[in-house]
Amino acid sequence: MATPYVSPAQDRQRRAVRPHLPMRPRWLCRVCAAPWPCQPARLLLLMEYRRDRVALSVYLAGCLFDATADLLTLNPRPEPSPGELFDRFLAWAAA
Ligand SMILES: [Zn+2]
Repeated sequence: MATPYVSPAQDRQRRAVRPHLPMRPRWLCRVCAAPWPCQPARLLLLMEYRRDRVALSVYLAGCLFDATADLLTLNPRPEPSPGELFDRFLAWAAA
């Protein structure tokens, strides 16, 4: 099946508006497939919550809680390290 032609500019625009959201239960980005929150997701979250960093931490703590449960179910051995998950979901937003 032929893929409709998408110009590089259109493609960039489409990526920019598509939110970098996590795909559960693996917690990979829907757009770039990196472990979520990927770099674009972090930037988008920082912009979205720039007036309320406490709310951002609360949101990310909820994600950490859900992700820990999902990832432990997926990979019981070796289980994901709590320190790594904390750094990935929460530590980056604290600065
Ligand atoms: Zn992404």
